[in-house]
Amino acid sequence: MKKQRIVVKIGSSSLTNDNGEIDQLKFNDHVDALAMLKNIGHEVIVVSSGAVAAGFSRLGYSSRPVTIKGKQAAAAVGQSLLIQSYIERFSKHAVVPAQILLTRLDFSDRERYNNAFAAMSELLDRGIIPIINENDTVSVEELTFGDNDMLSALVSGFLHADQLIILTDVNGIYTSNPRIDPDAVRLTHIDEITDELLGGTDEQGSKVGTGGMRSKLLAAKTAHTLAVPVFIGTGYGPTKLLDILKGHGDGTYISSPLSHVINTKRQWIALHSESTGRLYVDKGAETALLHNGCSLLPAGVFKVQGSFEVGEVVEVYGIEGLIGKGEVTYSSEQLRETIAERGRQQEEFTPMIEVIHRDRWVQI
Ligand code: GLU
Repeated sequence: MKKQRIVVKIGSSSLTNDNGEIDQLKFNDHVDALAMLKNIGHEVIVVSSGAVAAGFSRLGYSSRPVTIKGKQAAAAVGQSLLIQSYIERFSKHAVVPAQILLTRLDFSDRERYNNAFAAMSELLDRGIIPIINENDTVSVEELTFGDNDMLSALVSGFLHADQLIILTDVNGIYTSNPRIDPDAVRLTHIDEITDELLGGTDEQGSKVGTGGMRSKLLAAKTAHTLAVPVFIGTGYGPTKLLDILKGHGDGTYISSPLSHVINTKRQWIALHSESTGRLYVDKGAETALLHNGCSLLPAGVFKVQGSFEVGEVVEVYGIEGLIGKGEVTYSSEQLRETIAERGRQQEEFTPMIEVIHRDRWVQI
């Protein structure tokens, strides 16, 4: 089998028990399977939940805390216990893990985003398994990734993974909730995540984790747009991840329609950047952007809103509304001057360099 880059997401309930401790049997089962994947030559990245779930009992809580400070404190205790367990178990397979704790700000700040990419690439080149979690102790609630399902999808796109495997307690996606509907049918293969499918899933996660099936499907939808195929399901034993890769997993496979890699810069623009202004473009420019694969030229822009600098990201509005986002090669001031200049010398106006280059444009 060709060497692949695989992101494996493991949820809190797959790593810990309801009492707030790491479940050593389940934990070792995952680590042994991860190590097997790594030792046969694949690149492996783990997105591991479980920090809050593994830490709360040592803080004296009888169940997962609900206050922000309680969760943050539990995560601080649990994350170190988790990573200690990863180091110990991986060492039996001569595998070295590395801990990476991210916040959404690390993705929205372009420099930090690029640094995270460089560091993770270096770790992978050196044969290390990055173990990623949200930095729950310092995350601000309104500014989180949502949950680790979504984080795993973003990481998969970011690292151009060949496969995202979301391990959970349920063996795949069903047409409705199998816990309450005896007629629920399991889907072994999905080409597209429709609203109907999302409507049939449960928002509730487990007692110790956060994401339910709905959050897994939403994450899969994001991975889908980033050209990463996804598996959602379960497994047991050291060969379980290998079996999943070979197409024999107990769960649902979600294919990706895109065969090409989505470059990291465009992913950043689409998913992480904050827009600092708006451009309104005419019909010709809209068609050129949406249907002809062109860049946006100054001639197509008739109105500029907001204040932005060269290299920032703006939203682009066509006749009907928002059509996309892109990184500008003009500041708002330069662009306003260009539009005013065009008004003065209507006949002779020649387009200057593009306002948004094609490679820095994403359609919405
Ligand atoms: N980051 C959280 C933790 O480690 C889990 C988030 C999730 O379950 O999605 O406890």
